Amino acid sequence: MSEPEPVPTSGPDDYRDRVFERIPASYRPWLHLASTVTLGGAAVALGAWRLRAPSLVELLAVPAMFVVSNGAEWWAHKELLHRRRRPLQELYDRHTPQHHRVFREDDMAVRAPKELKLVLLPAVGVLAVIAAAAPLSAFAGACLGQNVGWLVLMTSALYVVSYELTHMLYHLPADGVVGRSAIVRALRAHHARHHDPRLMQRWNFNVTIPLFDWLCGTIARPDEATRPRARRREREPCSTRS
Ligand SMILES: [Zn+2]
Ligand SMILES: [Zn+2]
Repeated sequence: MSEPEPVPTSGPDDYRDRVFERIPASYRPWLHLASTVTLGGAAVALGAWRLRAPSLVELLAVPAMFVVSNGAEWWAHKELLHRRRRPLQELYDRHTPQHHRVFREDDMAVRAPKELKLVLLPAVGVLAVIAAAAPLSAFAGACLGQNVGWLVLMTSALYVVSYELTHMLYHLPADGVVGRSAIVRALRAHHARHHDPRLMQRWNFNVTIPLFDWLCGTIARPDEATRPRARRREREPCSTRS
């Protein structure tokens, strides 16, 4: 595979100001958030409506799909948001040169509600995730029963809502009631390290829970940013790079 495209390593405030100015005056961040959460919630509600007294064994589909979703999050962040691939180059363009250039490890919080446009998923992105899970849901439903199929769909929808809310939380001021809790502080620190331009292409790709970062050995060490590049390459068992 070819090397990823060079990414900007400096983010002057005038760039942030220009991005901010391009956000339409009509943009309403809370409507944006409501649209993504409602879409995910609607898929969960649809599944809950179709469920028929699932057994304990069928409910194992929830943790199983959580793990699959966590792996998909890790892979998509690493391979689609940090590598520019046709026809999904829009994902890269919104993420690496923009989201990462505006928000830095030591400057993670939005400065105005409108900047949430640079953090939240587009509603179509939530739909795409649910649509991507639909074939797996249908397959599980056909092989293991309808309840399992619906639980797979519900878990994937719930997961994408969790991604949306946790990522937003990391980019809100850290002194909020929820943001001050120990678990959120730990998860924010994990994501903030990913916002170090020296680390973002290789480390800390999970946003919700760093399960696959742990499984794949992509949790950045405290001194990772200052280690020689050759030695950083030693630890990447899940790397798809040749
Ligand atoms: Zn972020
Ligand atoms: Zn990233």
